Formats: sequence, structure tokens, C-alpha cells
Amino acid sequence: MRQILGIIGGGQLGMMLTEAAKKMPEHISDVIVLDPTPNCSAAQAGAKQIVGDFKDKDAILEAASKADIITYEIESGDSSVLKIAESKTTINPSPETLRIIQDKFLQKTFLKDNKIPVTDFVEITSLDDLRKKISNFGYPALLKARRDAYDGRGNFKIKSEADLEQALNYFSGKPLMLERFVDFKMEVSVIAARNTKGQIATYPVVENIHENNILKMTVAPARVTKNVTSEAEKIAKETMRVLHGAGVFGIEMFVTRQDQILINEIAPRVHNSGHHTLQSSKTSQFEQHLRAILGLDLGDTALIRPTIMYNILGPDNFQGKYKIPEVKQDNLYLKMYGKEESKPQRKLGHFNLVDRKNIGIDGLLESINLIKDKFRPIPA
Ligand code: AMP
Repeated sequence: MRQILGIIGGGQLGMMLTEAAKKMPEHISDVIVLDPTPNCSAAQAGAKQIVGDFKDKDAILEAASKADIITYEIESGDSSVLKIAESKTTINPSPETLRIIQDKFLQKTFLKDNKIPVTDFVEITSLDDLRKKISNFGYPALLKARRDAYDGRGNFKIKSEADLEQALNYFSGKPLMLERFVDFKMEVSVIAARNTKGQIATYPVVENIHENNILKMTVAPARVTKNVTSEAEKIAKETMRVLHGAGVFGIEMFVTRQDQILINEIAPRVHNSGHHTLQSSKTSQFEQHLRAILGLDLGDTALIRPTIMYNILGPDNFQGKYKIPEVKQDNLYLKMYGKEESKPQRKLGHFNLVDRKNIGIDGLLESINLIKDKFRPIPA
């Protein structure tokens, strides 16, 4: 049966999901996205759009009444409204899974209860509470907003007792948690999928390089030992088994200096660190997500060739219409997201550089160093 797919959020992830959906006409007849920006990225890829906020109850219910199955590209949708919408349509991952993941404290509690390794953490309710509890962790420690915090914007690194008050005030009353600081040597992630029948598949672990808390590059595969690779994949599979949700999940992890793996956080959706799969793998994470939520058999996740994904971010020094010069290279795949304006640190596009000539990760990194400046957006 051909189904109408609804997506909450029509940014770049919604765009690439729409493109994958258009290649599955035997399963998906149409795509509808809910997004506040008229002519959003997904609409440019051919999705019909409901213009509205992700938390707008009427707009979510409208999407639910029009679609046979709803999924999302953002985790900030209102899970209580989605629960109401569940009576009208199928929603994957389930609003209950979303509810747990949306709150970093509930998420980590859930992982810990299921014996999945995470750093020590605790809920914080007041300055006194913070003063008391931080003594168990020592300095530095990370104070985090429990909800609606991305790209490190919801974190405050407390370096000494002198920072406590400022740290708490930074969050102006939001629900908070405190985490023990992890002295990691690498940040990695595993893109994992679980379909509605319970079948689980993981992509090889990748290495994530951040700048100013924003993902800059993903190196596939991660430069880690075989043990770390298999441990990361084992933890990802176990996480998928206990989470129950159907879909693709981005599972971010730390590799400590002792090669221990700790989950940092889970995204209940396709993930920036999985964009390399568009060229590096037989099944992209976008197709895989659709296969998972539609209950189709999951696709092959093997890495065909090492690949580096490089994010094209808006430069800090301007905001407005932009262009990037045209660069052609046969192992380079550029994907722009059709966003009209550049803003500082905004994700405008990415490219994948594929290792066709067996130059290895070091060779790919050298290549990126030579070309990356050509992809700096400039005012149009
Ligand atoms: P988050 O938004 O919580 O994923 O955190 C953003 C970034 O902050 C991560 O990618 C890490 O680089 C860093 N970070 C988060 N939690 C910790 C932690 N407990 N210890 C050390 N660094 C962390």
C-alpha cells in the first residue's frame, strides 16, 4: 500500500528524507512537511508544506489528518500533542520514545536503568542543590539545560566554585542537570536503525570533529581500534533494543582516554553525522529511516569507501544572501540545502569527499585542507 508520509520539520534533514521518499514511489505516494519557513528546504525537494510551528497543535493535527504515517526531523515537537495525533495516524519514532529522549535527564536515566554506559549525572533544582552535588563530581563539571538545547548552547562548563552562581543564572530558571566532565579523546557516533518488526542495523562507527560545539567534519570510519568499534556498535544495538522506537537514531558517544565508551546523547532522527552515507554506503540513512518506519527490511549498512563529510557553515562575519563558488572534483559530492540566507554558524550545506583512489583518511584530510576555503559562503 502506498502511503502519504508526513514530516515534522522541513529543514535539510526533511529535504533529504523527501528526496529519499521520492525514490520509493512504490511505497510513498506523497510527502507533506510541517515547517514555519515558507518554501522550506524540504518543499524545494518536492514536499507539500503546511506552514506552521513545530509545536502548533492545530498544524500538527492537520499534518496527522493528511498523512498515513508521521515522522520528524527535529526532536523538539510537542510529544503530548503528538500523543493526541497518534489516535489519527501512525507516528514513528513513537511520541513516548520522543518524550524520553527530549529530556536529557530522562534520557540518561533511561540509559542508566538499562545498564548502558553514560557519564555520572544528577538533577539540579537550586543553587544550594548545585553547591552540594558538584562536590561529588569535582571541577570542571557541565551544567546542562534538560530540554531544547542543541549544539552546546545549553551547556555551561563550571570551572570552579566561583562560577556556580553565574552558571545557574545563565539558564534563567530552566530545568537543569549536572554531568561529570568526560576527558574524552574522541567523539564518535553510530547511526542505528530499528524497523517496526524489531530488526536492528547499525552503520560503522564514525568520528566527529566539532568547532565551537558545531559538527564540522565526520570521518567514516572512525580512527579507533577494532575493540572500540565493536564496543560502540554493541552499545548502539543494545540502545536500539531497549528504546523500542522505529526509525534511524543518531547515537553520539565519547571515547575516553582509556578507550571506554559512554553515550553522550541520542537523537531520535536522522543525524548530521550520517550524511556521509549518501555516497559511502549502499543505503543512505534517509532511505534507511523510511524503510524502518514503513516496516520494510533494513538496507545494507556496510561502508563501501572511506568518506569524509564536511559541513558548510555560515561565516561569522555576515548575514544575508550568499553564494559559494563552483568547485568540481570527481570524488566530491556537494549538497546545498537551499537556504536563502547565511547566518553565523548556520548549516547551509555539506560535501562528501569519497576515497576512490585509496588515499586513506589522511589523504582525504589533506585534500579537504586544500579545498575547504573554496566552500566558504560569500555575500551574493
Ligand atoms: P551536548 O549538546 O550535550 O551534546 O554537548 C555538546 C558538546 O559538549 C559535546 O559534543 C561535547 O563536546 C561536550 N560535552 C557534552 N557533555 C560533556 C561531558 N559530560 N563532558 C565533556 N564534554 C561534554
